Parts: sequence; C-alpha cells; structure tokens
Amino acid sequence: MNNTSQKRHGLSKSRILLHRQCPKRLWLKVHHPELEEIDDGNQARFDTGTYVGEIAQQLYPEGVLIDGGNLAEAVKRTKEILKGDKRPIFEATFQSDGLLIRADLLLPNQDGYRMVEVKSSTSVKDYHLTDAAIQKWVAQQDDVPLTSVEIAHIDNTFIYPGENDYQGLLKYVDVTNQILDMTREVTEWISAARNTLTESEPCIEVGKQCNEPFACSFMGYCSPLAEDASEFPPEILPRVGALAAKLRSEGFNDLRDVPKERLTNANHQRVWRITKSGVAELSSEVKSLLAALPYPRYYIDFETINPTVPIWAGTRPYMQVPFQWSCHTEESKGVIKHDAYLADGKSDPRRLFAESLLEVVGNNGPILVYNAPFERSRMQELANYYDDLKNLLEAAINRIVDLLPIARNHYYHPEMRGSWSIKAVLPTIAPDLAYDNLEVANGGMAQEAFSEMMQLDVTSERYHQLYDALLKYCERDTLAMVRIAHFFEGVG
Ligand code: SF4
Repeated sequence: MNNTSQKRHGLSKSRILLHRQCPKRLWLKVHHPELEEIDDGNQARFDTGTYVGEIAQQLYPEGVLIDGGNLAEAVKRTKEILKGDKRPIFEATFQSDGLLIRADLLLPNQDGYRMVEVKSSTSVKDYHLTDAAIQKWVAQQDDVPLTSVEIAHIDNTFIYPGENDYQGLLKYVDVTNQILDMTREVTEWISAARNTLTESEPCIEVGKQCNEPFACSFMGYCSPLAEDASEFPPEILPRVGALAAKLRSEGFNDLRDVPKERLTNANHQRVWRITKSGVAELSSEVKSLLAALPYPRYYIDFETINPTVPIWAGTRPYMQVPFQWSCHTEESKGVIKHDAYLADGKSDPRRLFAESLLEVVGNNGPILVYNAPFERSRMQELANYYDDLKNLLEAAINRIVDLLPIARNHYYHPEMRGSWSIKAVLPTIAPDLAYDNLEVANGGMAQEAFSEMMQLDVTSERYHQLYDALLKYCERDTLAMVRIAHFFEGVG
C-alpha cells in the first residue's frame, strides 16, 4: 500500500511514541486510520490514566488547571501563569517544532519546577522514560526552569484510609538522569517520524515490536489470519514456550501433523494424541475421586473488582475486592439449591459478602471452586481484615476442593484446544450452558457491569438490568461447575 505525501504532518507526543514502537504503525495511523482495530482495553487504560491524573491534582489544592479546550490558548495561558507567582500547574501546555505536550503536574520548588508525569502503573516502565524525555525536551525549548523530571506511579502498598485522603497513593521517581541521553535524541526522533510520514509505507514485518509496549492495533492488517489456518496450531500445546515457534519453523502448522517423537512432555503427548484422534479422554479414576466427596457439597464462585484508585477504606490499589458470590448447594445426590449475594454498589461490599457466604456454606462439606488460588486468596484477605470472622473464614478455606486440577489431570477434549479454563471445558460437557446468550459473559464484563452500577448517574432501569445480568452470569458459573463435577462422576 503506497501513499506518499510531501506535506508536513503534525506530530504529537503519542505519534512519536507510536513511531518509536514501529514506524509502520505511525504511517498506517496517519495514512490509513480506517485499518485500525480499536481495542476497548486502550480506552479503559486511557480512562484509568485520566482518573489517576485527576486524583493527583486533588493532592495540590492550590494548583491551577490549564484548560485544554483550545490548545493555542492553553500554550498562551501556560506562559502567563509561569510569569506570575509560582504555584502547581496541571496540564501545562508547551509547543516546539510543531510538537505539543501537556505536562500532568508542574510543581514549584525554590529553583524552578519539578515536572511530573502521572502513570497508573505500579512501576516505571521503559516507555514512560521515552515519554518523559519528549516532555522535557519540549518544555526546555520554552526555557521552563525544570529542576527534575519525575514519574509518579501508583504505590501498590498504599492502604486507603478513607475520607478521600489519597496522600501516599503516588510514588514519585526522579528519572532526570535516566533520560539525559534520550532527551538529546528527541530532535532525531521528530525528524525520523516526519520522514516516515512523507515516504511510502515502511516495509516492516510483524515481530516483537508488535506487542511492546502495547499490542498494535494494525495487527489485523499486517498479519491477517490465513484462510487455511489450522484449528489446532502447535501453540495450543500447554506451556509450549519456544517449542511452538520451532515446530512452525520446521513447517508444522497443524499439531496433528507433528510426529509423536517430536513431543517429549507427557501432557503435550496427551493433547497431541487426543487432537489427532478427535476423541475425548476421561480417566477411569476421576469417578471415584468425585464420588468420595461427601454431602453437602458447595459449588462457589466469586466476582471481584480491582480499582486502580482504591474506593473503600482499608483496600489497596488494584486489590481484588469481592462483590458477588454464587453458590449451588448439593444437599444430597442431585438435590440442588442456589443462593447468591451481589453488593448494591453503594458501599464497601466486603463485610456482607463474607457474612452471607459463611451463612450459606455452614460448617461442613467440601467447597468446590474452579481455580482455587483465586477464591482462597480473596477469603484469606477477608479473614485478615475482619478479626471476628477470621476463624470461620479460615475453616471454610480448609474445606476448598479445586476442580481445575482434577479436570486438568483427568479430562481432555479436542475442542478445548489446550485450555482447561471453565469456558473451554464447559461447551464440551454441557453445550446447553453456553455463555453467549448472557449480557454479562465473562469476568471482565462483570467488572464493567459492577463499575457501571456504582456510577452515581446510572438510571434505576439500567441498574436493575445490570444487577440481573450479574446474577445470571455468576449463577451460570457455579451451575457449570455442578455439571462438570457430575460429568466426571458419571451422574445424570
Ligand atoms: S502490527 Fe507490527 S509491523 Fe504492523 S504496524 Fe503494528 S507494530 Fe508495525
């Protein structure tokens, strides 16, 4: 695809960062934006970053925000404010050589300003340094007296005390020295990006750069799925590592064509054998393993939310806060009832979550989960937080039985394509329980639905729609576990 243009293209910091990742990515973004496949995750990352930036501003109540509605005005206004009494400036806007930047925080000190870029990650990443170098270079062209350049990232050891007190949420890392050399290269980066844009499409093959630092949104164009792509490529082998690329390089694009002797790992051989035969395998021992579990049996599943900026006192950034559980109780063989808890989204969900769960699971009987480390960790966190519930929660933790390793060790169906996730196993056992007719159909969607329920401006109608969708989803997960356990046991 060729599209050469001699016009001078406007550059922004994000465009230079795209060019640093891959010149072809910038070229396509400018000349063929219609080829881009927008990922909702990018928008979510952006929204999170914006919110963290707003919290950072709250930490400096004497600060002034430069309105970004009109960027030329913003540049002018920044200059005016810099001439006046020193005070924190948010979104200070500078422009040089056609490149415009907005600095998250400019914080005054005795000799000038600390320039701080606020990030929602929990550590400084390489691409933050590139970003900071560009910011610094542009600000320097405007003779801003910078005493340091810093990255403020989320401190994941911060425990929110409540009352909107976010002092300590951010950790400031001085990167001034780390970006010295990079800052000198910025002019070269700018001219390289401009050159790329005036030339024809760069000839760059897909490679490591396509996912670093973020997945490229032009993958569909650069690497379209071959029409004859195999349903069973070597990559489906569990924990395959470098072996998949090796097999591909030897011309094996379909696992079924790989000679048996090329696979030495027992699990690889099992997946290969079942894929090749097309016949599922269920071990003979699994029936007695399940039959040995006494009644009542509790099948439980949790949904959690992990806000970057903690919402409830006593929680940390990115902490998985449980807000919903579902429990199918099998009181005796085939006699099943269902219970559920879903927080209202208006206050800390944890206490009621824990109390209601303990009430339902009682004192005896196995508690079946799918991927126990997740549920176990959430319950232990609750036990650590609520002293009075600690013993009861820890006793419940000791009753947990994990169905995932049982499935992994005893069952495989070709259609699972190397995965033992509940979403991969279920359609092979109970296709009638598909998730595709549900409004909330996976954990990510459950988080989004609960976040929306928590919004102050959500309508009552929408709130109840989300509430019902969440209840249905979590119930489906635990019903799925019942069906999987029954299938293993040969019940029904
Ligand atoms: S998919 Fe890879 S090669 Fe293609 S534009 Fe993106 S980063 Fe470059």
